[in-house]
Amino acid sequence: MAEQALRNVAVLGATGSIGASALDVIARHPDRYRASVLAAGRNVDALVALCVAHRPAHAVIADPALFAALRDGLAGAGLSTQPHAGDAPLDQLVASDACDTVVAAIVGAAGLSSTLAAARAGKRLLLANKESLVLAGELLTTAADAAGAEIIPIDSEHNAIFQCLRSRRAQADVRRIVLTASGGPFRGRTRAELTAVTREQAVAHPKWSMGPKISVDSATLMNKGLELIEAHHLFDVSRERLDVLVHPQSLVHSLVEFVDGSTLAQLGLPDMRTSLAVGLGWPDRIASGVGGLDLLAHPKLEFEAPDTDAFPCLRLAWHAMEAGGTAPAVLNAANEVAVSAFLQGEIGFLSIPALVEASLAALPATPADSLEALLAADAQARRVTEHNLAGHTP
Ligand code: NAD
Ligand code: MG
Repeated sequence: MAEQALRNVAVLGATGSIGASALDVIARHPDRYRASVLAAGRNVDALVALCVAHRPAHAVIADPALFAALRDGLAGAGLSTQPHAGDAPLDQLVASDACDTVVAAIVGAAGLSSTLAAARAGKRLLLANKESLVLAGELLTTAADAAGAEIIPIDSEHNAIFQCLRSRRAQADVRRIVLTASGGPFRGRTRAELTAVTREQAVAHPKWSMGPKISVDSATLMNKGLELIEAHHLFDVSRERLDVLVHPQSLVHSLVEFVDGSTLAQLGLPDMRTSLAVGLGWPDRIASGVGGLDLLAHPKLEFEAPDTDAFPCLRLAWHAMEAGGTAPAVLNAANEVAVSAFLQGEIGFLSIPALVEASLAALPATPADSLEALLAADAQARRVTEHNLAGHTP
């Protein structure tokens, strides 16, 4: 085999669930990949521990107040890893020679700035941070195309679609793209049965082990709504060619139907290391640590239509996608505020769709052709939702 150049990978959101999966795959291939930059939000101890294990050249903590703690932690561990703190230093590092590949796995709109920096700098972008695509999908894909940045979707559904298309462009020969959804922990329940569900129940996903925010999004089906908007931008497909199918086994990760009647699907065990290995190795296939799928051990593959009465977030996302402009930014920001309040025990589960719907109603879509306009809509939706929280109780 030809000698491979060592690729330097920045893992943003290194202390999270996707970050751990990415570092696991990288560590399996020391001859091909090195984690050169590790970035996290506030957990200094976890970040230092990852630096001890992976020896990156740079470590970044988002909160500037934690710089000294990071610096002292790295020095105390005898590491030569350079400490950094704050958003601007992270964006600079992402755009610099310190990395050629970026795993964008910060949760929420907080990940937009570094994701955009990677796209603008022409990096290979392994994109897990779906909220940045919902908030500013067109800007992000346009920036990536202009700079020659290769976006490889990491969200399992979009990674499946990418594999079926062997590209990020759905051509005219694609009739339909079907995103599969597990249905989350509350699949099959009526709206009335969701009134009193708890945080613990909501984050206990039946098939995937993920961070708390996306776990709640999976329970409300907002996750699938965000993924529709994500697919719309990633593959440049209109709403009419997108569909959602609930598939409780989470083994078929999505399907692409072509004009000739062929449907291609990607199957595999629900483990994000497969998507990350595709992102790191593409077009090569590399080992991920994930075993093969034994269909005799999983003989049942079931499919059903989503229930948008019990789970209105999916319907709200469809509407926001159709409305376009600032609507997806409002949807995403209102959802982030509502999910955070739910996780802190301030509101009940059904308040999440109610708050998102109220914010969408209060802030009708306007055209948004600049990052400033989108960020303003995001900020306004956060204010409106925070204000409306007062009227909701646990
Ligand atoms: P997580 O909560 O486990 O991890 C989030 C990471 O982001 C942590 O490392 C945290 O320190 C970091 N972070 C938070 N705020 C930050 C900030 N302001 N600046 C810098 N870093 C910050 O979340 P996760 O489950 O790993 O999900 C990460 C992203 O990947 C989300 O956008 C999610 O929707 C997407 N995603 C996750 C999965 C999954 O299986 N976990 C699947 C598909 C997509
Ligand atoms: Mg997904």
